[in-house]
Amino acid sequence: MNGSTAFCPQCKQDVVFAVNGNTKACPACGYQFSSGEPVPSSGLLQGRRGWLIFFLVMFAPAILAFGVLAAGANLDFGAGITFIGSGVSAIFCGIFCASRVASGLVWRFLLAVLLIAAFYGVCFALCFAGCTAASALRSTPLF
Ligand SMILES: [Zn+2]
Repeated sequence: MNGSTAFCPQCKQDVVFAVNGNTKACPACGYQFSSGEPVPSSGLLQGRRGWLIFFLVMFAPAILAFGVLAAGANLDFGAGITFIGSGVSAIFCGIFCASRVASGLVWRFLLAVLLIAAFYGVCFALCFAGCTAASALRSTPLF
C-alpha cells in the first residue's frame, strides 16, 4: 500500500497527491491542502460525521412524511414521500454502507444492491410509522 495515496475529498477518487512546496495537490481535480496537515485519509462521508449524515438521510423521509402530514398535507403527498423518499434514502444508505464494508467493485455492487433492498424496507417502515403518528395526531384514520 502506497502511503502517499489518499482519498481526495473533492473528486472522490483515490489519488497520489503531488507535493508542491508547502502544499499537496490532487492531480485529478487540483484540490490543494497544506502538507502540514495530515493527508485526508477520507472524504466528508467517512468517519463519525459520515455516520451522522447516514442516519439523517435514513430518517429524513420519515421525518418529512410526518412533518407534511402533521401540517395538513393530504395522504397522497405523504405516500409519495414514503415511496420516493425511501428509495432515495435506501440508495444512499446502501451505497454508503457497501463502500465502507466491502472492497472491490463487484462485491460493493452486490452488497449495495442487497443493502438498498434492506434499507428500503427500513425507511419504508419508518415512513409508515411517521404517517401513522401524523394521522393519529390529526385524529384522522390513515385508511
Ligand atoms: Zn481530487
